[in-house]
Amino acid sequence: MSAEPSPSPHAVTLIPGDGIGPEITRATVRVLEATGARFAWDLQPAGEEVMAKEGTPLPARVLESLRRTRVGLKGPITTPVGTGFRSVNVALRKELDLYACVRPCRVLPGVRTRFAGVDLVVIRENTEDLYAGIEFAVGTPGLESLRRLVHDEAHRDISLDSGVSLKPVSRTGSRRIVRYAFEYARAHGRKKVAAVHKANIMKFTDGLFLEVAREVAREYPDIAFEERIVDALCMLLVQHPESCDVLVLPNLYGDIVSDLAAGLVGGLGVAPGANVGEQAALFEPTHGSAPQFAGSNQMNPTAQILSGALLLRHLGESEAAARLEAAVAQVIAEGRHVTADVLPDGSSLAPATTTEMADAIAAAL
Ligand code: NAD
Repeated sequence: MSAEPSPSPHAVTLIPGDGIGPEITRATVRVLEATGARFAWDLQPAGEEVMAKEGTPLPARVLESLRRTRVGLKGPITTPVGTGFRSVNVALRKELDLYACVRPCRVLPGVRTRFAGVDLVVIRENTEDLYAGIEFAVGTPGLESLRRLVHDEAHRDISLDSGVSLKPVSRTGSRRIVRYAFEYARAHGRKKVAAVHKANIMKFTDGLFLEVAREVAREYPDIAFEERIVDALCMLLVQHPESCDVLVLPNLYGDIVSDLAAGLVGGLGVAPGANVGEQAALFEPTHGSAPQFAGSNQMNPTAQILSGALLLRHLGESEAAARLEAAVAQVIAEGRHVTADVLPDGSSLAPATTTEMADAIAAAL
């Protein structure tokens, strides 16, 4: 049964993406609309085909739309190799200052995984750290100046045949991501936040992140605070992932740990995500555009659909979000209309297509 229609449609920018993006996004729009929530989609293509037609994979109209609606549903977009274009995904995060990448990882009943009871959230800082893009290529004049500076100021030598990437970590960037993690914990009834770092080795970057995390934690006495060294955290995640709750990490560790956590709960096909800032929030799966499967209608739409559930919650449609998540869990647990990656072991049924799985989820709603 559908919910009462919302009073006015939610204006949402819709970026289908490329590769498998359009087919999983179509499936997601179908089930989002089946919840009864109402949307005014502003369709904004971006990615490879747009590059061929408009000369850029990310035309200004896409950013204008997101600045207007402040919320988007996005399919994955291929990063062209060797064209000089940077990643559209990174560009969107940079242009809109989407500083928090949020990836909830929860085992759904029926999903094949070695781990039971995992229900954690990875909150990754999106703008700083080794991913800031401040790099010096081997043998360039810039690298030569940097070598001199390091020699004079730090009394260390960088060998001539090195390339260098810088790791800026700011007090401001650390404070806003840790605060985001605590606010998220409060809003979602979570019990603890762990700051993940390597402060024992990198005292002025991860050390600063940890120091700020401790300061922020004091503002939230109702939420427990833990400190975890990133390598020890990785071991904990494969031994006792059920003991983890909200994890907040600088960019590089966050990138790696969010894929690790996706693996714990059944893989990329079921791992949703969001990139959030003050100006806008963009909901997209953890996985990429899997271009080799483009047009196959075989890939799992769950990660994108669960990103849609996060979008619903962001729009205040919590009841619709809960029903959608329950419908996804039901279809996966039944195992009759699911794609190959979540087909139960030993099943005699053929895997469902992307469209058939979305139809089953819509029917379960
Ligand atoms: P990928 O996530 O696209 O695919 C890796 C493998 O994971 C696939 O071959 C497939 O086996 C599996 N997989 C992915 N999505 C699935 C789904 N929905 N259902 C079932 N299985 C699924 O990673 P990649 O091949 O490294 O990247 C392909 C392109 O995507 C690259 O150009 C990359 O830059 C881009 N990318 C984009 C985003 C984004 O848009 N945010 C994120 C990651 C990668």
